[in-house]
Amino acid sequence: MIKINNLHKSYKMGSSSLHVLKGIDFNVKDGELVAIMGSSGSGKSTLLNIVGMLDIADKGVYELDGVPIENLDETKAAQYRNKFLGFVFQSFNLINYKSALENVALPLYYQGLKRKDRQEKSLSYLEKVGLKDWATHLPSELSGGQKQRVAIARALASQPKVLLADEPTGALDTKTSYEVMDLIQQINQEGKTILVVTHEPDIANMCQRVVKLKDGVIVEDKKVEQVLAAQYV
Ligand code: ADP
Ligand code: MG
Repeated sequence: MIKINNLHKSYKMGSSSLHVLKGIDFNVKDGELVAIMGSSGSGKSTLLNIVGMLDIADKGVYELDGVPIENLDETKAAQYRNKFLGFVFQSFNLINYKSALENVALPLYYQGLKRKDRQEKSLSYLEKVGLKDWATHLPSELSGGQKQRVAIARALASQPKVLLADEPTGALDTKTSYEVMDLIQQINQEGKTILVVTHEPDIANMCQRVVKLKDGVIVEDKKVEQVLAAQYV
């Protein structure tokens, strides 16, 4: 699903530059649930943003579902992003003045779905994350865990091939974190390929494979005995 070879990324900082990714080799198979682990500043978000086509590498090869991702103009990149990728962020990134349902429906609007189809589809995804009864509520009326569920429903509604989550539990307490990981595990069980960036070992161990980043290089890449989040919720 994802093939990355000798990936490099630097940020220009005035006259100097910061070399953040220093030759990353990384493949993900269809249906995997992979944690990208590492301390703050190790380059996790930089890597995820490149995988998510929110940023581009300086050097290296990136293939997504057999498609080489290079030299795409912004329109083409946006099309691929909508078609292939779903995003979940630490800070939820919901629109505050829109209801849960409207938040989930927004990407479907951009996909050109008719109003009735958007509503039906969004409601079915809210039901999937256990929030059908909260459809008309604003984000400010939801708990952190509920907000993240809405964000997950929104990411899934456009039926992406890969779900990318950058510290999805970073703003949540432990119990709520495990509830969100339980949902992520269920979605993975249904076949979705998922990448979870985290700096928390307990969250990483709820994935099937842990890739450790340190100072811009992968220092470890191993299968783990997957801990089921359901036992904690
Ligand atoms: P992580 O997600 O592992 O905490 P990041 O990928 O966000 O790490 O950042 C890696 C390094 O790159 C950090 O030193 C950070 O300060 C720097 N960095 C990240 N984004 C930018 C940017 N847009 N411009 C300059 N430096 C950046
Ligand atoms: Mg980060």
